Amino acid sequence: MDALLVVNAGSSSLKFQVFGIAGMDLTRQIRGKIDGIGTKPRLQATAADGSRLIDQTYDAKAVRDLPTAIAEARRWLLTLEGFKLRAVGHRVVHGGPDYVRPALIDAGVLDRLASYQDLAPLHQPNNLAPIRMAMEINPGVPQVACFDTAFHRGHAEHTDCYALPRAFYDEGVRRYGFHGLSYEYIAERLREVAPRAARGRVIVAHLGSGASMCALREGRSVESTMGFTALDGLPMGTRPGQLDPGVVLYLILQKGMKAQAVSDLLYHDAGLKGLSGLSNDMRDLLASDDPHAALAVAHFVYRCVLNAGMLTAALGGVDAFVFTAGVGENSAPIRARIVEGLAWLGAELDPAANEAGAMLISAAASRVAVHVLPTDEELMIARHTLALISAPNA
Ligand code: ADP
Repeated sequence: MDALLVVNAGSSSLKFQVFGIAGMDLTRQIRGKIDGIGTKPRLQATAADGSRLIDQTYDAKAVRDLPTAIAEARRWLLTLEGFKLRAVGHRVVHGGPDYVRPALIDAGVLDRLASYQDLAPLHQPNNLAPIRMAMEINPGVPQVACFDTAFHRGHAEHTDCYALPRAFYDEGVRRYGFHGLSYEYIAERLREVAPRAARGRVIVAHLGSGASMCALREGRSVESTMGFTALDGLPMGTRPGQLDPGVVLYLILQKGMKAQAVSDLLYHDAGLKGLSGLSNDMRDLLASDDPHAALAVAHFVYRCVLNAGMLTAALGGVDAFVFTAGVGENSAPIRARIVEGLAWLGAELDPAANEAGAMLISAAASRVAVHVLPTDEELMIARHTLALISAPNA
């Protein structure tokens, strides 16, 4: 079977999926990941029907970094029979100011992406390593880069800039916005399940361990809660969301913290984890009777409602609201509390539909339709990859 490989590489995990191709149809065949890279490496993969294909743990030294994880995933993938690899689609966090759509990768594209390393030093190197390896290993197989920023590149300049001297904008200090592959998938899905809403004004809340919201007008992104980096906007599992830059100055100038320590604090020790002092996982916080857990949850809900208000202003009103990603797809109590905070917009919940995790969870009389739609960033990457390799001039 002709197949596509989708690769999503982070600092401590490598996720991959295999899709079968028949014409322009895609069918998911395998989901896999190696997590705990360098600490407790574990390779797991399941077939389309959910049956386990492999579950193997390794010595920390055996899978000590991303390249060794890629080599291990490849070794296992090569043991599978019946797949003919036609292309590899890569998730790339940063497409810089230039990439408004996915790109077929050649040496020039790779150089350009490497030049964005300063804009996303934590993510870009992890994203580029698998591309370089895949190009070396399979020189004849097309590689496609799909960007988390691309979907937001149509934002108007006055929404895209910070009030800083112009030179900073020109060198790339802009409000890029992230989670674009998720929002693009949701925009497509909405066209199928709620075509009228899809043509209107929609707020999508991607609430996972990373969290952001996106304002869609006629299916196009016009505003995002994330900015120059994925630190901005909503509070997240371990990131604070919007923060007065004066706090960062205080940490450096008054507390004498080094830049790396501030970075570690903001990326790994803040957010729900920092505020609760307990956990970055919303499930733990909801199950806890510790008042700090309740505070972290209340803060998260409050900031979601506040940011939804901001995006409503950007859109001049809102017709539909969509919950997606780990918390959005699975947590009825969080959805209920956020929708309650949107009552001023005329949003009204259908509690039974919410508890059941139905696709439409608003009451019939609600002025805002509220949906729950599972996201699928990997399928979005597979679609882009197939479209690019099928284009006549590919
Ligand atoms: P990632 O950003 O890593 O892709 P996900 O979208 O998979 O994250 O979301 C993971 C998060 O979703 C977990 O950290 C957890 O907090 C949250 N989550 C998953 N299931 C539930 C649930 N039933 N209730 C509350 N939170 C949940």
